[in-house]
Amino acid sequence: MNMDTRLLDEKNEQDIKEAGKILRRGGLVAIPTETVYGLAGNALDPTVSAQIYKVKGRPSDNPLIVHIADIKELPALVEEIPEAAKKLAAAFWPGPLTIIMKKTPLVPMQTTGGLDTVAVRMPSDPTARAIINAAGVPLAAPSANLSGLPSPTSFPHVCDDLMGRVDGIVNGGDCEVGVESTVVAVTGEHPMLLRPGYVTKEQMEAVLGEEVLVSPAILEKLKDGEVARSPGMKYKHYAPKAQVTILRGDFAKYKEFIKQHTEPGVWALCFDGEGAQLGVPFIEYGKNHDGVTQAHHLFTALRDLDKHGAQVVYARCPEQDGVSMAVYNRLIRAAAFRVVEL
Ligand code: AMP
Ligand code: MG
Repeated sequence: MNMDTRLLDEKNEQDIKEAGKILRRGGLVAIPTETVYGLAGNALDPTVSAQIYKVKGRPSDNPLIVHIADIKELPALVEEIPEAAKKLAAAFWPGPLTIIMKKTPLVPMQTTGGLDTVAVRMPSDPTARAIINAAGVPLAAPSANLSGLPSPTSFPHVCDDLMGRVDGIVNGGDCEVGVESTVVAVTGEHPMLLRPGYVTKEQMEAVLGEEVLVSPAILEKLKDGEVARSPGMKYKHYAPKAQVTILRGDFAKYKEFIKQHTEPGVWALCFDGEGAQLGVPFIEYGKNHDGVTQAHHLFTALRDLDKHGAQVVYARCPEQDGVSMAVYNRLIRAAAFRVVEL
């Protein structure tokens, strides 16, 4: 693939219109959202969905999220809006929450990876919303990275991955959240968290007044033969070229461990203010005990470790509740589930 890629700017109204025009005629445009950049195309056109899978190099049974700008667009996409979905949408839309519901025939199977359910999200990012409105159709938009690389959270990340492969890229600066949306299914008897994100399990439970189950694939490796409820969870996720290991324990123990492992090629992936005490090159990825700042920096940190040629990376361990559950979920995949107890 080597096509002309228009570089567009969110600050320019004409550019937003242009992005809408490209999308309406079946093209692909990478757009900023509050979570990560999305590789957007018309969600209702099966050939467009097929093209998205091709550009990303993504397996076609890994379904796409459909983005809308107004709740009025929802009834055409889903058979029914369960009570739980109504409550969650009222509390968290627009925002970084994706809700899985039964799809109508309007949504092509190519978009849902062959499933009879559809994942829907209403982003809060004003540029994403303006582009959906300009396109006049719901947009399928998986993360705008090549499959196997971390999701892009800045304009340069998207250009690195998609230049020459899409019709346009809209520059919207850095993404506010930094990890992909929370995914929750409301199609079963109980709501189930399929992917943790900025909207937390605890927040959803407060709104729903019932427990939200956690899909086993979120915090542990699936056992052989176990089926992933969220098809995306079964695929190998981004692992840097370096071998990443998470070290679970306090900073004193972490520092002690690093002092014993100062060989060339070793890098520390630690929290703010810790790196200078370690005696090895380091990248800091947010404040200790603060999932929000860690989520914001994690994917940039992982891309940067590769750029620096890190070979062995020892990472500080995030917590597992609140927004930290999302950080832990992404980091254990980058670490191929290697966790050492200190
Ligand atoms: P991404 O497009 O990279 O943000 O990933 C979308 C995630 O949502 C993947 O993990 C998918 O498996 C999940 N997903 C999308 N649609 C569905 C669905 N209908 N049922 C279950 N999981 C879904
Ligand atoms: Mg992705």
